[in-house]
Amino acid sequence: MDLDFLPEHAEFRKEVRGWIEANYPAEVKRKQASGEEMTKEDILSWHRILYAKGWLTPSWPVEYGGTGWDPVRKYIWSEELARAGTIQNSFGIGMIGPVLYTYGTAEQKAKFLDATRSGDIWWCQGYSEPGAGSDLAGLSTKAERITGDDGKEYYLVNGQKTWTTQGQFADWGFFLVRTDPTAKKQEGISFLLVDMKSPGITVRPIITIDGGHEVNDVFLENVKVPVENRVHEENKGWTAAKFLLAHERSGIAGVARSKRGIERLREIAKDVRSDDGGSLLADPDFQRKVAELEIDLAALEYTELRTLAGESSGRGPGPEANLLKIKGTEVGQRLTDLTLEAAGHYGAPYFRGFPKDGNNAYPIGPDFAHRAAPTYFNMRKTSIFGGSNEIQRNIIAKVVLGL
Ligand SMILES: Cc1cc2nc3c(=O)[nH]c(=O)nc-3n(C[C@H](O)[C@H](O)[C@H](O)COP(=O)(O)OP(=O)(O)OC[C@H]3O[C@@H](n4cnc5c(N)ncnc54)[C@H](O)[C@@H]3O)c2cc1C
Repeated sequence: MDLDFLPEHAEFRKEVRGWIEANYPAEVKRKQASGEEMTKEDILSWHRILYAKGWLTPSWPVEYGGTGWDPVRKYIWSEELARAGTIQNSFGIGMIGPVLYTYGTAEQKAKFLDATRSGDIWWCQGYSEPGAGSDLAGLSTKAERITGDDGKEYYLVNGQKTWTTQGQFADWGFFLVRTDPTAKKQEGISFLLVDMKSPGITVRPIITIDGGHEVNDVFLENVKVPVENRVHEENKGWTAAKFLLAHERSGIAGVARSKRGIERLREIAKDVRSDDGGSLLADPDFQRKVAELEIDLAALEYTELRTLAGESSGRGPGPEANLLKIKGTEVGQRLTDLTLEAAGHYGAPYFRGFPKDGNNAYPIGPDFAHRAAPTYFNMRKTSIFGGSNEIQRNIIAKVVLGL
């Protein structure tokens, strides 16, 4: 099997890598290295640079702002973004954008697509509820049709969403709501676009075990949503919801990010002393663990390339997407296990902000060690979000093994 890229693709990789190096905002890089929390503006600064270059939405159809690249170029582009550790808000570009250009009305496309690309609209995803995660179709946030005082048709929405990532930054959210409580679970759901400034919406932070504010509870109390903000037909929202989830899972393997992580782990372990006083990187047990991780990552990469070869010849991703999600997140988590092991006692949990508030000792030890525990804790999320790994295994059992 020839795994080399064609010369024009190798050339393209060089161009993308050089451009990212020259244009990725220095301030964002600095904050990432020190583990400081990103602001909305930090994240948008890079988004806007990509938008201005015309490289923000390669996967979108050209008429809506896509680049028209072949699948290999798109893959190289996303690999190079991950390799450089760039940040992104994927809810607009990777999720609702494709739903809107596929299912949206002409008015919805005109109102939202370009504003999403330019960064003027930041989206959040209102799918999960306290009683509906893996069993998403069991959601109970209710939307009743009413006629407003202005004579217009609205949905009156009541309920709670949870785990809403970056909901604190969002201008708009895409929400799944129940419009027919009498129908079969999947058949009574509608897909609504909700202005997050609407009266009746409360966003409450959830502080995660790593000390970060990434996710939120969102409460909806008598929120009026114009009927024209519904995507696709009433009670057919599940179709758009599933289409979006397929987009969410692709690209979740994070091969390039893990490759970079292993390089970094080797650098770190070189300078850490093991029990016998030598370098941790020379310790046979540690070497074995790193080698096992590299082997799994190589297998993951070839699976991803096989998927890419399939896509290049017109076959869409099948159950490989589920497999890539499971293995990719496992590799990413093991990487943080080993980094924490390298940090040793210097990695004892350290939360941002605590030294400032006088609640914890100032960090000691090598720089990387301060991020080791928070990163370890943060990465636990990856086997839960985007459909938990257990659910991915169920899908593989059904689709591939026919169980
Ligand atoms: C950091 C983070 C960010 C998130 N961001 C968002 C967001 O922006 N928007 C959004 O809508 N949601 C978001 N989610 C929610 C995420 O999609 C859900 O957490 C996920 O679908 C799991 O649902 P749950 O938490 O309700 O767990 P549950 O569904 O209650 O599952 C609990 C456990 O049981 C297992 N389990 C459940 N059913 C089965 C089964 N049939 N077979 C085998 N095992 C099973 C699960 O794998 C899990 O281990 C986020 C979650 C996290 C952690």
